[in-house]
Amino acid sequence: MSTSEFERPIYPQLNAPPRLLLGPGPSLVDPRVLQVMGAPLVGHLDPFFLDLMDRTQSLLRYVYQTKNKLTIPVSGTGSAAMEAAVANMVEPGTPVLVCINGYFGGRIAEMAARYGGEVQTINRPWGEIFPPEEVKAALHQRPAEVVAIVHAETSTGALQPLDEIASIVHELGGILIVDAVTSLGGVPLQVDELDIDVCYSGSQKCLSCPPGISPITLGQRAVQRLENRQSKVANWYLDLSMVQAYWGSERTYHHTAPISMVYGLYEALRIVVEEGLENRWERHRLNAGMLWDGLEEHGLELHVPLEYRLPSLTTVRVPDGVDELVVRQGLLRDYNIEISGGLGELKGKVWRIGLMGFSSRRENVRLLLSALADLLK
Ligand SMILES: *Cc1c(COP(=O)(O)O)cnc(C)c1O
Repeated sequence: MSTSEFERPIYPQLNAPPRLLLGPGPSLVDPRVLQVMGAPLVGHLDPFFLDLMDRTQSLLRYVYQTKNKLTIPVSGTGSAAMEAAVANMVEPGTPVLVCINGYFGGRIAEMAARYGGEVQTINRPWGEIFPPEEVKAALHQRPAEVVAIVHAETSTGALQPLDEIASIVHELGGILIVDAVTSLGGVPLQVDELDIDVCYSGSQKCLSCPPGISPITLGQRAVQRLENRQSKVANWYLDLSMVQAYWGSERTYHHTAPISMVYGLYEALRIVVEEGLENRWERHRLNAGMLWDGLEEHGLELHVPLEYRLPSLTTVRVPDGVDELVVRQGLLRDYNIEISGGLGELKGKVWRIGLMGFSSRRENVRLLLSALADLLK
């Protein structure tokens, strides 16, 4: 056997640039989180790890403000948690209603259709929110067993109020899935209080952990729905009835947990609890307010009205005659700062600025504002 046919690829050791991450995610990671991720690996059934799983679940319940037993991190990024929510709640023929006012609502609808759901959508321009009456009217016209809505639309910067949505959905016998990827840990969200049935998130937004592990929680109605399914969950990897057997008391092997990611999430959640949820929400709100004021002082226009503007992600309109990409490239090249451009309907029209978790700091807001002022001169 000879390997001479292949030239050996010799590269320098990895040397990642220290970016200031102020885009739609990933956000900056607290050094404490990176440090624990380098801790010695243990087996996924090691008593140390089983104990860590229990603690992680208890931290997650606090951060979600829920007593739900089935509260676990899904292996994979936020889209994996989204897919877990959809795959476990939707069967072939399930009537589904998806509220779409941005990119991620569209992704949920796409997934629900792939799992055989009879998907109906209601739509709003990107940057707007749904009044509860609109959801109600849609459900009266055509009842749905599963309703999905995005709490914090990262593509638009709009924050969807959830107060009345769950009771509307429940009155008509449905269950409510909420995408909280860009709100959990940064924006007020209380799963039990709001009576949400399925709520999923991600690690790399307001929780400030690297991407790759994603919290999900299921309430009693959702667990019952899972138990009463006619067909098996069409996604083996994300079948929560099997995954929960590992995270619950049975500890049955399903797939190897991403051990180091659980270390990271554990520490990231500990940091949230240390700060306190309310303080954390307030910090996100204050720093966002400072960003909004600064942007407006520079003559820039914000895309979403203050009333339902999202603190963790701000959309700023690109002024006429400015090439949005040139500004973003300048920020990265000259200031080491990452922000993002618009998606879909808002492509080329807005910048997206994230102030999430560890990234949400006064000094970062000041740096970005002065860099932007320089580049726009
Ligand atoms: C980021 C995001 C997702 C998808 O998460 P990934 O980690 O990119 O897979 C889903 N929904 C919302 C609202 C998001 O912001």
